[in-house]
Amino acid sequence: MNNENTKKELEQLGTFEISRHLLSAAEKNKEIKNILNAGQGDPNWINTKARLAFNKLVEFGIKESSRTINETDLAGYVVKEDISKRFKEFLNPLNQIDSFLLEGLSYTHDKLNLDEDAVVNEWTNGVLGNNYPTPSRILEMNEPVLNAYLENVLYKNKDLAHQTDVFPTEGGTAAIVYIFQSLKENHLIAPGDKIAINTPIFPPYLEIPQLNDYEMVGVDFQSKEEDHWQIDPEELKKVIDTDVKALFLVNPSNPGSKAFSKEVLDTLKEIVKIKPDLMIITDDVYGTFVDDFESVYGVLPYNTLLVYSFSKLFGAAGWRLGTIATNKQNIFDKKIAELDAKTKAQLEERYQIAAFQPSKLKFIDRIVADSRSIGLYHTSGLSTPQQMMEILFALTHLVEQNKVDNYIKLAKNIISTRYDLLHDSLKMEKDSSSLNAKYYSLINIFSVAENLYDSEFSTYLKENYRTIDFLIELAEKKGIILAYGPGFDTPSGYLRVSEANLPTEDYKKIGENIVELLEEYHDTFKQK
Ligand SMILES: *Cc1c(COP(=O)(O)O)cnc(C)c1O
Repeated sequence: MNNENTKKELEQLGTFEISRHLLSAAEKNKEIKNILNAGQGDPNWINTKARLAFNKLVEFGIKESSRTINETDLAGYVVKEDISKRFKEFLNPLNQIDSFLLEGLSYTHDKLNLDEDAVVNEWTNGVLGNNYPTPSRILEMNEPVLNAYLENVLYKNKDLAHQTDVFPTEGGTAAIVYIFQSLKENHLIAPGDKIAINTPIFPPYLEIPQLNDYEMVGVDFQSKEEDHWQIDPEELKKVIDTDVKALFLVNPSNPGSKAFSKEVLDTLKEIVKIKPDLMIITDDVYGTFVDDFESVYGVLPYNTLLVYSFSKLFGAAGWRLGTIATNKQNIFDKKIAELDAKTKAQLEERYQIAAFQPSKLKFIDRIVADSRSIGLYHTSGLSTPQQMMEILFALTHLVEQNKVDNYIKLAKNIISTRYDLLHDSLKMEKDSSSLNAKYYSLINIFSVAENLYDSEFSTYLKENYRTIDFLIELAEKKGIILAYGPGFDTPSGYLRVSEANLPTEDYKKIGENIVELLEEYHDTFKQK
């Protein structure tokens, strides 16, 4: 890969595509026994409790099904009457997983006032995948549970669960795609409109082709290493003097891995006071990795649409579990109501098969309809087994109530240990702020060089090497795959290390290999 054309081509590729090429380059070096790929965000841990509970529910569901038809492999449908009584008889309170299911059921009854037969009936049909998701946005008993979870982990101090509509999606990825599509279809953003993003950011927000139609003004508030990747509130205020229509935020950020400070949240409030029509989309998939996290949705529920994913905390990327949440009173609906008569008539026609009174169809329900090209609205919605997996993950947290959630604590400890090992081996300063999610680290190769040697050496590196050179050499010589920082819109020199996806002791090796590579560069430098 060491010719100039290949490098130029590589730099043009998407961040995750670059990683794929680096991986195949590393595989070609037969001397490398163990490739360490820290380029990816999906974790190497999983939550077992919710998965075993899912299994148990399937077993119960099969038993229930054979009550109505029982012909070898063919069974019948489930009967709701007294189903919760039979469920309790089926479970053994001395078994850990069974007792979790019993606690989960009590939670829905005691805290959310749900009917136990209705809950067990929905859970049972849900895991079996009986019936189309009805209502299509989210199953009825599931909505309060998912709402309680989001409130607990993302906006604990705000009583918003009852005022929030949620739409479970095929991961955060589908949530993002659906939102862009419906914003556009409903004329809430039009080509040429200004959208601000907090950079550096998760690459899809830079790469979705639809977004090329909009004018991105992300540079207005780029967070920097000297601010520990925190947004500068003064920079953010510049949004006031622009005609920015929407803000797309990732909080805690990826790759900066930093949750917004109270000052930044207060600044957002100030901005919205001056620009009350501002639309905010916040992607909070890393919220649970920060203690006492506060979502922008918690601070500005009227203006904000929330995206969350179960992939990271629960190690469930293959399940494709995410959700969209909006407040029952929100700016998106208000803006739709204020569209001009011609546009409204066009939208009336667009959504006429989805509702009796299409003009009253809420933005979130428009997202549901658009997700299946409207024509297939009746079969839209996340698959019921996927919805159930979300609910069981949510319940692992909710049943702990005021206790410490040991699972979340363990997940945080894992990434924190890896963060320490990496930084210690690179002799880099650590950021111990409670806002640091530590899910990723951005390593500036020039700063590491300056720190280990001197500024002359780092100047030499800057003059003779590009970021891609380090990435290629780390892959080809050392078998280490990191993500290309500039792909996230960082300045040059940055490599992103994911603290989520490799065995803990490997983070020391990654640091040591970077140091070794720099040592080799330093030898060349001295010879010159
Ligand atoms: C990982 C990630 C996602 C994607 O989540 P999925 O649920 O796996 O699709 C979305 N947003 C950000 C910022 C992420 O890092």
